[in-house]
Amino acid sequence: MLSEELRNKYQLIIGLEVHAQLLTQSKMFAADANEYGKSPNTQISAITLGHPGTLPKVNRKAIAFAVKMGLACNSEITRYNVFARKNYFYPDLPKGYQLTQDKGPICVGGRVPVQLPDWTKKEVILNRVHMEEDAGKSIHLADEPDTLVDFNRAGTPLIEIVTEPVLTSPEEAYAFLSEVKKLVKYLDICDGNMEEGSLRCDANVSVMLKGSAELGKKVEVKNMNSFRNVFRAIEHEHERLVGLLEAGEEVVSETRTFDADSGTTASMRTKEDLNDYRYFPEPDLSPVVISDEWLNAVKSTMPLLPRELYKKFVEEFGLPEYDASFLTESKDVALWFNKLCTKTQNYKAASNWMMGPVKSTLGDYSLSDDYPISHEILAELIALVEDGKVSYTAASQTLFAELMKSPGESPMDLAERLNLIQESDESSLRPIVEEVLASNTAKVKEYKSGKKGLMGLFMGQVMQRSHGKADPKVATKLLTELLEK
Ligand code: ADP
Ligand code: MG
Repeated sequence: MLSEELRNKYQLIIGLEVHAQLLTQSKMFAADANEYGKSPNTQISAITLGHPGTLPKVNRKAIAFAVKMGLACNSEITRYNVFARKNYFYPDLPKGYQLTQDKGPICVGGRVPVQLPDWTKKEVILNRVHMEEDAGKSIHLADEPDTLVDFNRAGTPLIEIVTEPVLTSPEEAYAFLSEVKKLVKYLDICDGNMEEGSLRCDANVSVMLKGSAELGKKVEVKNMNSFRNVFRAIEHEHERLVGLLEAGEEVVSETRTFDADSGTTASMRTKEDLNDYRYFPEPDLSPVVISDEWLNAVKSTMPLLPRELYKKFVEEFGLPEYDASFLTESKDVALWFNKLCTKTQNYKAASNWMMGPVKSTLGDYSLSDDYPISHEILAELIALVEDGKVSYTAASQTLFAELMKSPGESPMDLAERLNLIQESDESSLRPIVEEVLASNTAKVKEYKSGKKGLMGLFMGQVMQRSHGKADPKVATKLLTELLEK
């Protein structure tokens, strides 16, 4: 652990490079299926394998997806896009080069607002979002002497989101990644699955003396397969780099690999043996020009973004930020809740239902299709509780579970059938309240001499005698009335 003093002496700086695999049906430059988890080397074509004489063709959908991301990040969209060959040799790169964008990325600049754990907000400035294709995969099995190669992934469309060196803590890096994951899922352009490698992140880390005008030398850390591990890798590098500087040593610009078991990093290659990729424009592809019509067509498919819904939930619905944060965490929940709020005006109650009973069913059911309870039914349930017809306990426990089993049934009918309608009628509750007070004369005296806490005991007995059906609001009113007499 770094001492407080060293934390104050040095400034940690992080820049992230995030790769997101796009959810297109076919590959970036070929018609083979872009599908994860298929038998090795079945999702490949001569184009993907770079056989001589084959010609790549651009996937329009992938371009549109990259533009969507740029629009969501307020980037400037480049209209005239050129692909470049990045040349290097690797067994999982059959063509001997990767098609990417070098100068002139499709999205220039931009910013992603993120929320930190202490509820403060920060705008993370982007350098760019560019398009490229994925490589195949080398597989090193434990008991195999040989390395195996699976080309299925080769040619999968990717966007790479590159931040400026503006993040200053592992918490900020984590928050940024969470926001990017949320964004790509809302936009429906990537499934955001880090375990399957659909979302991958390299972290560039440096430290410098606080107040210094020049950034320190950076290291790039690779191979973190979860947000948590990105966090750990940054923490580890923070300590290691400060340790180096404190010992009077120099930081070497290098690429390091993270080991999740030990939580440490090890050098992979230094910048000295950096490849010269010899970028040059891909001669087999004509530039992709994004016309006004195309750009407008993409704009018209933009969904509501999580931050827009967040703002609406807080400002229009008056919900606490905590609620808005939960409600916008997943697109399914956000859109479902947003629609629920066209059926009820009781936004806070609706939010509580989402955070409680609805959430507890989301392991088994999905809100994106065929959720057993409709917006209308849940709105009715909320109204039943609000009108004092059914207690929240009865509604959220019994009625809700019954409605999950028999979709379409009317909550009111069901409540009647299950005998859950509350006694909110004063004239029928009054005798019960009177009985309770009559059988507790000693306690009533204590109450009247100041022990107001006894109210709970009277309420409990009213509930018991009414078999849980007394409307607490009405019962409290009657009790207060009779006790203050
Ligand atoms: P390179 O030329 O080594 O690829 P770039 O300037 O293209 O470096 O930046 C790559 C990533 O590294 C970006 O995300 C950028 O924000 C980040 N980065 C650049 N310099 C630093 C630094 N000194 N400390 C931390 N991150 C940095
Ligand atoms: Mg670079």
